[in-house]
Amino acid sequence: MRHFPALTVDELALELGSRTRAIEAIKWLYAQRPLPTALPDDMPGVTHRVWKPFLARQKLITPKVTERQESADGTTKYALDFEGTNVETVRIPAKGRSTICVSSQAGCTRKCTFCATKELGFIRQLKAEEMIAQYLLARSEAPAAQPASNVVFMGMGEPMDNLDEVLHAVDVLTQSPAPQLRHVSVTVSTSGVLPGLKRFLAESKASLALSLNATTDEVRAQVMPQTKSWPIASLLEALREDAARRANKRDYFIEYVLFGGLNDTDADADRLVKLLEGIPSRVNLIPYNPYPGTGLETPSPERVMAFHARVVKQGLLTLIRWPRGREIAAACGQLVLSRDGSGFSPLSAPA
Ligand code: SF4
Repeated sequence: MRHFPALTVDELALELGSRTRAIEAIKWLYAQRPLPTALPDDMPGVTHRVWKPFLARQKLITPKVTERQESADGTTKYALDFEGTNVETVRIPAKGRSTICVSSQAGCTRKCTFCATKELGFIRQLKAEEMIAQYLLARSEAPAAQPASNVVFMGMGEPMDNLDEVLHAVDVLTQSPAPQLRHVSVTVSTSGVLPGLKRFLAESKASLALSLNATTDEVRAQVMPQTKSWPIASLLEALREDAARRANKRDYFIEYVLFGGLNDTDADADRLVKLLEGIPSRVNLIPYNPYPGTGLETPSPERVMAFHARVVKQGLLTLIRWPRGREIAAACGQLVLSRDGSGFSPLSAPA
């Protein structure tokens, strides 16, 4: 059974017996600051006669905030507890908006070498309620001048391994009257799980981020073992076909973590340009965030700039994403690391 806040307007209208009441209840939820921990005894716009029995069978899923860390650049990392399951969510402020990075699983089954989350193993799938609740919590704390208008499913977990719940969460996040995010402002990321990627492209209008991180299967398999099942060419072909089918109406982000001496050569830059031919993509170059024990290195700023200049010169739309919130371990691939980077936070460790 679905619970607040993952009920669609249609589902809520069935529960409350009217679409108008459903809209009033959703508007109420998104107007609350701070985020309430339970549904109220009375809901404005819904008669007590209807609301009381609804309350008896429904609840509002909200997390307990067990820790909140803010970095100098305003990035805030939340350690959240959903009845004993710990996940992390990050709010990233920018000019005029905030982006909320949500987790789709507690832990992960994938084994990307560079990622701290994999150390947790797999704990459990998150429900759509829990994904939306992460957004709601972070949204309720976003400054008025930087509203939470963007969501990225790039926290803990591989979204394609929990796709039913992710797709439902996207539907709710983009529904009217609230929060009514634009599909283009909701981005679902994948490490390259081809069956899920194909289904996502067929069923959702949201943006897609592919974590590519190498230009040959051999190197990619070193950092992302699932490459052996789904090689680079098969992933990019899925994007190419989708771009043709949708007449380039979707944003494709290619995430490319630069590892010093592994995937940051001029030859890699040239291969990357060739690989992305025919895909209307935007490339994010992400200098690797250090994580002890991986044997992977951060490239020098000069190498990052040279790689960037080389792909831009060949026509790739490319940005360098210098890490945000590095000192609180809220940057890409660092969720579950402790503040000083020396181990795992007891707040984040598996129960
Ligand atoms: S990078 Fe993503 S898919 Fe890979 S182990 Fe980490 S959370 Fe899982």
